[in-house]
Amino acid sequence: MTYPNDDEFLYALSSNQAWASYKSHQNPAFFKTLTNEHAPSILWIGCADSRVPETTILGLPPGAVFVHRNFANIISPTDINTAAVIEHAVVNLKVKHIILCGHSACDGARATLTDSRAGGVLETWLTSLRVVRAQLASQLATIRDDHTKEIMIAEKNVEVGVAVLMANSTVQEHIKSRGLEVHGCFFDISSGRIRDLGLGTRMSTRRAPSTNGTAETVRGKHAQLVFREGGVAGMEAR
Ligand SMILES: [Zn+2]
Repeated sequence: MTYPNDDEFLYALSSNQAWASYKSHQNPAFFKTLTNEHAPSILWIGCADSRVPETTILGLPPGAVFVHRNFANIISPTDINTAAVIEHAVVNLKVKHIILCGHSACDGARATLTDSRAGGVLETWLTSLRVVRAQLASQLATIRDDHTKEIMIAEKNVEVGVAVLMANSTVQEHIKSRGLEVHGCFFDISSGRIRDLGLGTRMSTRRAPSTNGTAETVRGKHAQLVFREGGVAGMEAR
């Protein structure tokens, strides 16, 4: 991506100034409200990939999503970083949903397609993806297209991650005591759509909003998304 002046840092800062001015103009109380309240209902665990900015792709405002992102959205039970985020989100913020979301064209899944070493600490971090690849070996052998193979590995990685989340004692406690929900999802970069993989607490396939036939409305706390035939979505701020 290229920017005016070829200085990405200065461009990003000036872009922030413009965004802050716009938000203040749109709603003078916006930042005050944001400062005084932190009550997200969703914990999103996703990949660090620059093309998967959770709040943007969910169409939600700042304050709606508590976030943990790492390379290839790997849930390692011994990773204190992930564990601390889950603990704070579930115990203190009392989020209602945990969404673990993988995505297409993931660099992590791609790095494990072959036996070439990823190098440095990456090899250690991506170990669980190598295990996933080994588990899928017979299915992967029948597929020629690397893109499809990456998706298969990335989806299985979500399944494994959801299983680790469901085995987390804090998560288990809050599922039981207050109905915390855990979901496994997949973001397709080529269409911008998120699919519910039907994993976790509901274990049923819930599709992304239909793009066929009659209009379907998804009401959010701050915005209303309207999906119509042809996939055209409108957003109305409340
Ligand atoms: Zn990724």
